[in-house]
Formats: sequence, C-alpha cells, structure tokens
Amino acid sequence: MNEQKGILTVISGFSGAGKGTVLKRLLTKYDNYALSISATTRAPREGEENGREYFFKTREEFEKMIAKDELIEYAMYVNNYYGTPKAYVQEQLSQGKDVILEIEVQGALKIKERFPDALLIFITPPSAGELKRRLTDRGTEAPEVVEERMRTAARESGFMEAYDYIILNERDRLEECVDKVHGVISAEHARST
Ligand code: 5GP
Repeated sequence: MNEQKGILTVISGFSGAGKGTVLKRLLTKYDNYALSISATTRAPREGEENGREYFFKTREEFEKMIAKDELIEYAMYVNNYYGTPKAYVQEQLSQGKDVILEIEVQGALKIKERFPDALLIFITPPSAGELKRRLTDRGTEAPEVVEERMRTAARESGFMEAYDYIILNERDRLEECVDKVHGVISAEHARST
C-alpha cells in the first residue's frame, strides 16, 4: 500500500454514539469517501442486509478469512468477530478515495500500528446517560446487551487518548458533527500534500 493516495480514516465511538448516522450523512454530503464494509459473525439486526451493513459470516467462514490473511485487522467485540476485508480498502486507497473504517478501539490501534499515517477519530455523545438513552431507544438490543455495551463503552473510554480527534455528536446537531469530521480529514489532506 505504499503508493496510497487516499487517506485512511478510522472512526470509532461507543455503540449508540450515532456513528452510523454521522457516516451515512458524511457519504451523501461529500464526495470522495469510500466506506469499508466489515465482516462479522454477529447476527443481522432487523433491516440489515448482507453486503450492505456487513458481510455476515459464520464463525468458521470468518476464521477461514483470518487464515487466508484476507483481513487488515479483526477483533472480538461482545463475543463476536468483526474484521476489515483487505482488498476493497487497498483498491479504493490506490484510486485516491478517502477510505473510512468504522471499527472499535482494538481494531483502531492495530490500524495505527500498521498504517501510522491513518487518521483516528472518536465520536462520542456528551454523557454516559445520553449514551444509555440512545442504546435503549434504538430498541434493537435486549436489556442485558445494553448493559454489556455500556460496560464495553466504559472500557473503551480508556483508549480515547490514542485518537487524533475526539468529536462530540450532540442531539440535533448532526450537521455540525459531520462537518467537523469532514474538516479534519480535509485538513489531513492539506498537511500531507
Ligand atoms: P455493531 O454490532 O453495533 O454493528 O458493531 C459493534 C462494534 O464493532 C462497533 O464498535 C463497530 O465500530 C465495530 N466494528 C464494526 N466493524 C468492525 C471491524 O471490521 N473491525 C473492528 N475491529 N471493529 C468493527
């Protein structure tokens, strides 16, 4: 990936931070972004489609991808595997696209190790109370999963200092958050040229 032209950006944030909404808006509002679609062993949520939100895999299929070195990084998160397929990311970066990986903290740290120029952005709601409200309101997760995700969030907050930028996603201020994300990626372009 030495001749890479696009910028590799990792976006992380607590489950329920609204990253998905921010990214959807970023991709419709601005050109030149390519969103990597991860593979996972978790079951599809209602409304999710294979190949759109994720490539849904069995554990055996996922472990085969690991063995064949088809993933740039992978991690275990709340008892499921999640990983970034290599081919798409390499292809898009070499075409000059800015590739976005929406991944959790362990994966983000692995990316930074392998690609020191990668930009790491952490998106967070303003408080733990707001995070819990968003997870509960989403209504797709059982209460014990919400609790598990809150515990995971508490652990993840310890890794925030490894990120280049921490951006707040406040209620009713989506555009502001989207423009800030775009702004730091644009600034990175200016810096690297
Ligand atoms: P969810 O189950 O809510 O879709 O995702 C759970 C967590 O897995 C989120 O924090 C999401 O960013 C992360 N995730 C999604 N895809 C990947 C991936 O390819 N690699 C890693 N390391 N984490 C991922």
